[in-house]
Amino acid sequence: MTDPNGPPPACPQCGTQLAPMMVACPQCGRLLYADALQSLAEQARIATEKGDVSGALTAWREALALLPHGSRQFQVIAARITALDEQVAGSPAPAASAGGNRSPVSRGVAGAGAIGVFLWKLKALFFGLGKLSTLASMALSAGVYWTIWGWPFAVGVVLSIYVHEMGHVIALRRYGFKAGAPMFIPGLGAVIRLQQQIVNPKEDAEIGLAGPIYGLGAALACIGLWAVTKEPFFAALAGLGAWINLFNLLPFGSLDGGRGFHAMSRTQKLIGAGVVAAAWFFIHDGMLILIGLLAISRAISDKSDPQGSWKATYTYVTLIAALSAVSMMRLHAPLSAQ
Ligand SMILES: [Zn+2]
Repeated sequence: MTDPNGPPPACPQCGTQLAPMMVACPQCGRLLYADALQSLAEQARIATEKGDVSGALTAWREALALLPHGSRQFQVIAARITALDEQVAGSPAPAASAGGNRSPVSRGVAGAGAIGVFLWKLKALFFGLGKLSTLASMALSAGVYWTIWGWPFAVGVVLSIYVHEMGHVIALRRYGFKAGAPMFIPGLGAVIRLQQQIVNPKEDAEIGLAGPIYGLGAALACIGLWAVTKEPFFAALAGLGAWINLFNLLPFGSLDGGRGFHAMSRTQKLIGAGVVAAAWFFIHDGMLILIGLLAISRAISDKSDPQGSWKATYTYVTLIAALSAVSMMRLHAPLSAQ
């Protein structure tokens, strides 16, 4: 997967025949990707020297895939990845660390850094647009929505789903995962193909909930446009966008909500269910009943660690409350009105 040549058909050391997916010779234990591993370690070293934690994580994650499970090297690199993950989780944004010193100059530097981070995020938001496969699948998606609401609305919905997906991509890259550009599935939404597995529940929750956070941002931007233009079109777009993100918060399987719940303890899941019930009391949306029932069943069949993550819990309940409120914007522009 990393080495374009792949492993040799026979072990260069002892001549044992090798199967396609092997990373080490079963006979003599020789590592088959030794060259690739060396260059990845070098890549990680350079990234670490530059203070690029995400870059170092990318290289180590790739190296991990080329090592036999349970080997000493595997354990050493896995431990290194865990340590770097903690570093990423501990720093909300790269610019925050520059704000430690309180002098006006360093504050200015931190401010410029924050703008840089913002621009970088903006760039990340649009990089996928250049990919032809993304454009093609996006156009196909828009085609299905077009038959329902007319093309301007279809374009708006697809763009808001795109912003949601880029939230995932940005979080994935912070943690050094290699994420492809989003692929749109007509009528359903979009997915991001991931080459590595996410094993840390807190990381999984953060990456999962990043989608609805960005989705909420897109819906709020639509409310801003509605406030300025008074066009019901933008109210409808904000409301439907928020509702699509609410759907993604279903605590089920690999949906964003399911991944958020992955990091929550039983008590935290029940708190989540309580906030969902409160939101239902205000807006009476059937989706919230479904979310609440699933949340309770997840709490009952709980197998997660008893500590859980309060960060994931706060993020989840805030998203439920905010997206429920914004989804009411649909009332300013009924879906039947085009
Ligand atoms: Zn998502």
